[in-house]
Amino acid sequence: MNNTKVRFAPSPTGYMHIGNTRTAVFNYLLAKKLGGKFMLRIDDTDTARSKKEYEDALRDILLWLGFKWDEEARQSARMSRYDEVVAKLKAEGRVYACYETAEELEVMRKRLMNKGLPPIYDRKGLSLTAEDIARYEAEGRRPHYRFKLEAGIIEWDDMVRGHCKYDAVNLADPVIIREDGSYLYHLPSVIDDADFGITHIIRGEDHVTNTASQVQMFKALGAPLPVFAHLPLLTGKEGKLSKRLGSLGVRELRAEGVEAMAISSFLAKLGTSESIEPFYDLDALADSLDLSKLGRSQPKFDEEELKIFNTRYIRSLPYEKVAERVDVDKEFFDAVKGNLNILSDIEDWKTVCHQKIKPIIEDKALTDLAASLLPPEPWSAETFNIWLNEVKTQSGKKGKELFHPIRKALTAAENGPELKILLPLIGRAKAYSRLLGEEA
Ligand code: GLU
Repeated sequence: MNNTKVRFAPSPTGYMHIGNTRTAVFNYLLAKKLGGKFMLRIDDTDTARSKKEYEDALRDILLWLGFKWDEEARQSARMSRYDEVVAKLKAEGRVYACYETAEELEVMRKRLMNKGLPPIYDRKGLSLTAEDIARYEAEGRRPHYRFKLEAGIIEWDDMVRGHCKYDAVNLADPVIIREDGSYLYHLPSVIDDADFGITHIIRGEDHVTNTASQVQMFKALGAPLPVFAHLPLLTGKEGKLSKRLGSLGVRELRAEGVEAMAISSFLAKLGTSESIEPFYDLDALADSLDLSKLGRSQPKFDEEELKIFNTRYIRSLPYEKVAERVDVDKEFFDAVKGNLNILSDIEDWKTVCHQKIKPIIEDKALTDLAASLLPPEPWSAETFNIWLNEVKTQSGKKGKELFHPIRKALTAAENGPELKILLPLIGRAKAYSRLLGEEA
């Protein structure tokens, strides 16, 4: 039986951006590649910042990308489960109360840093007497809770970073519950991953130190350790992590005509040793996934590059992949696709071929002559060349002087698909009228 289960765990505190979309892409593709399940977990423990509107938008983008999930969970619905685990860990001495205020912790942190020491919590909370606690409570302080790390080396094999090793001595016991009783991300994430049987976790390398603590949390819960993969973070084209990048909305890209598969193809190969090529379905892209091809350096993401790739993607699209969306036949699609920047540009060519347009007459004598020489239908593959040669001979014009006025009369545009391909799609009646300058 295949037990593989991979999850994407966004916090609904904002819209999907290119960074978390990339995480979703890798997780989904890995689930697919391994023939496992894909789970959506809504990390909404931060009730102040989590919004339904963001969650709806997030689901909408995931479905648009084609990432259907087999299972879902939401952290806000699992609080009693977290409380139960915390009670057990408290009883085992792995979770302990601390009473320092944020200001006191900051002073301690600065003091250590000034001495050139790592800012590691001194575990004062572990040695508080009942009187200390009573005094703090009387002062109106409320405890926050930390997870106690065990001494020793923490190790895991990372699918991107290789063998990772941390000495627990260099890590501070992570705070898992705030003063107001709310959970921080760390422990609930591990409880969920353990309870739901998550086998692989792909996330940004900003989580690497969290992973070190979480490895011990899995152990404390008696749960098997998932396989981890930490992706190097994307940077903006200016080299450093750009704010704009974090907020570059996938909704906006979609509205601008960037295709779902273009985004997945692009993000799945960015920063790998492979070239970025168009993939037309997720199965094929998943088959090609190889996390060991990801480099360790932070790849640059450039929105313009994605848009250029999107155009390349559209111009190479096999008709069958878009037939339902374009409402034209294969002949038409193949004729115009080389001129599309985004898929909806096809509407312009549908108008040129099937609707009325106002022609642009640049050289009336030439286009009148072209109209008079237009052969009767039916046309063959040779008709266009025969016709144009005749216009050329009788007008004495050639090259741009010949093509340009005819193109503008037939299409009212400067550029476009080859006239030879367009003319039969426009048909004789329209072509004739347009050459004469009539709206048709
Ligand atoms: N909600 C966390 C985040 O968005 C999930 C991290 C994880 O994958 O464990 O950063």
